[in-house]
Amino acid sequence: MENLLILILNATLVSSIMCLADRINHGVNVLIKRSFCWHCGHNLKWYDLIPVFSTILTRGHCRYCQKKFGVHYAIFEFLGALIGSLLFSDTTTWITAYLLFFLALEDWHNERIHSDILMPWILYLFIQNWGEPKLLLTCLVITISILLVHYRQAMGKGDIPVLLVLTLISTTQSFALSLLIASTLALVRLKIRQVKQLPFVPFLYIGWLVVTLIEKTLIISHL
Ligand SMILES: [Zn+2]
Repeated sequence: MENLLILILNATLVSSIMCLADRINHGVNVLIKRSFCWHCGHNLKWYDLIPVFSTILTRGHCRYCQKKFGVHYAIFEFLGALIGSLLFSDTTTWITAYLLFFLALEDWHNERIHSDILMPWILYLFIQNWGEPKLLLTCLVITISILLVHYRQAMGKGDIPVLLVLTLISTTQSFALSLLIASTLALVRLKIRQVKQLPFVPFLYIGWLVVTLIEKTLIISHL
């Protein structure tokens, strides 16, 4: 029963964060209470908003205007419920996963993020890690990032707080592996899409999530 509640909580959180990101990305007031169809504007009923199931039952179409909005909502909600439940026992990682998920959605959509929301979290992680050797790595990451942003224009300044969070929350090896996965995936996408730049936060997020999930799975399998 407890596991089911955790699963429902995570599916609902993923759904809410996607809704929040959608509204911010489209410049819609986040305080409007009811969710609505982006095509016809019809207010959605509670049964249109059940994570995973509503999208499957309507096959990714609006119930009122039949416009297709896609099944990616259900896929994200399903994966989010599973991953969020797996990370739930590690509160710091769990909160980080949701913060970065929101920023990854923002970056993917308009290549700009509200990275300021990470500042209190960075401060908290900094205090938590006070005296740890990884603070040296953190300083190194800040220095390299500033150089890359201001002198090479190789990445956006919004990437710096995300990199800081990843440095503070990961071991040095995990951070290096996350960065390797993120950079490889980003390079593949640059090659495939034949573009010169892309939003990097989603790739950093995927890289970190893959490494974190492998670590958690290994820990569970050793228990
Ligand atoms: Zn509609």
